[in-house]
Amino acid sequence: MRVCILGAGVIGLTTAWELAERGYQVTIVDRRREPAAETSFANGAQLSYAFVAPLASPETLAKLPGLLLSSAAPIRIRPTCDPAFIRWGLEFLAACNTRSVDATTRAQLALGALSRTVLADLTQQEALSFGLRTAGKLVVYRKAKGFEAAKAQAERQARVAEGGQEVLSAAACLALEPSLKLRPDELAGGIYTPSEQVGDCRLFCDDLAVRLRRRNNVSWQLGTHVRGLVVREGLVKGVETSQGLIDTDLVVLALGAGAPHLARQMGFRLPIYPMKGYSITARPSLGAAPLRHSVTDLDRKIVYAPLREDGNDVVRVAGIADMVGFDRRVDERRLADMTRQAADTVNIDLESDVLPWAGLRPATPDSRPIIGWSPVPNLFLNTGHGALGWTLACGSARLAAQMIGKEGPGGDPAWFALGRSNKAP
Ligand SMILES: Cc1cc2nc3c(=O)[nH]c(=O)nc-3n(C[C@H](O)[C@H](O)[C@H](O)COP(=O)(O)OP(=O)(O)OC[C@H]3O[C@@H](n4cnc5c(N)ncnc54)[C@H](O)[C@@H]3O)c2cc1C
Repeated sequence: MRVCILGAGVIGLTTAWELAERGYQVTIVDRRREPAAETSFANGAQLSYAFVAPLASPETLAKLPGLLLSSAAPIRIRPTCDPAFIRWGLEFLAACNTRSVDATTRAQLALGALSRTVLADLTQQEALSFGLRTAGKLVVYRKAKGFEAAKAQAERQARVAEGGQEVLSAAACLALEPSLKLRPDELAGGIYTPSEQVGDCRLFCDDLAVRLRRRNNVSWQLGTHVRGLVVREGLVKGVETSQGLIDTDLVVLALGAGAPHLARQMGFRLPIYPMKGYSITARPSLGAAPLRHSVTDLDRKIVYAPLREDGNDVVRVAGIADMVGFDRRVDERRLADMTRQAADTVNIDLESDVLPWAGLRPATPDSRPIIGWSPVPNLFLNTGHGALGWTLACGSARLAAQMIGKEGPGGDPAWFALGRSNKAP
């Protein structure tokens, strides 16, 4: 069977791998000339399997007015009359309740656990090299209220899965991670998860692409813009592209933030809106304690990951959630805000080469990806992974391949279906 995978980000590539392994004839299509050239390029590098709390929550709702009024806030919304954004925003507000948080937590923990296993097996089987390491993740809270909410979330998670999360005092956080430049009185405390991992998403994609290129049932159409789908008798028969028509029996939509555009053309709506984020990659300061763990500064919504690049230690800093439409440009002021806050928080050297980047998270209102069949019978959806696409990619791809092949599912597909309700699964 011929399958066209639309999108060569981490979601498209992992789905291509799973389907190629099952013997499908796979074609990967992307407008960029290299795989992983958009949101999968320089993300936060955190494989955050246990820390899956959605952005939409009662706590976020309470903080929203303050966040929106402050110019240095990690979340920014550009006022717009775009109906897609207004509808997304209303759905986001509707998801800010404990029931929805519980449902998403449960679903993401299960998908995260599957992803972890699939990624570990794939890395070993194919000898992939992308700096995968169990660095442990420390989430620090500057405010007591946020810390109390985090403790409640950790307890919630412990009820639905074995979390292995430890609650730490401010002093214990600083002892665990000496690269933090904070004073004990600047922190309320932290949650530490020793099993969390880090790895470079783009290097993973590059290495997986090399393995995919070696297979004779995989072909590539890079530098190829997807313009639409050809539908006859209710089924997709081909993909219209800037390079001509590709005949196919099945299509997997993995276009990230670009997915809703194609869905609209097909007559259905995907509740996905771009949430722009930034990253910098910098060297640790010379002579200072290097970052050892993956760290999340929850109040500032900035994450830090220790990586290796060309044999050198580097720190990947990522953050900011701006709802500014499809504008991918680096806003120098936003980047400078994040960089300054990062340099106040961990040891990084801003005099060395600092690589800036911006990408669009394909965000759903409840933070859960959409994995399942679309209203068109041979069009499958694997998209909307928001802030956790790197973490959830391998599990999402496995789940997608199992659903496409009508195998026994490795997770509950209803949790990720288009048109799911916010009710607990
Ligand atoms: C600042 C930041 C930090 C992040 N940190 C983390 C993290 O630490 N951990 C984590 O798990 N996740 C993180 N994420 C999220 C993660 O990076 C994304 O969820 C993930 O990369 C999405 O992958 P994707 O394949 O769906 O999208 P993409 O990587 O964007 O791939 C979609 C592809 O579709 C192609 N495309 C789109 N439209 C068309 C078209 N019409 N024709 C042809 N091709 C098209 C694009 O070129 C692109 O290559 C972060 C994201 C950001 C922005």
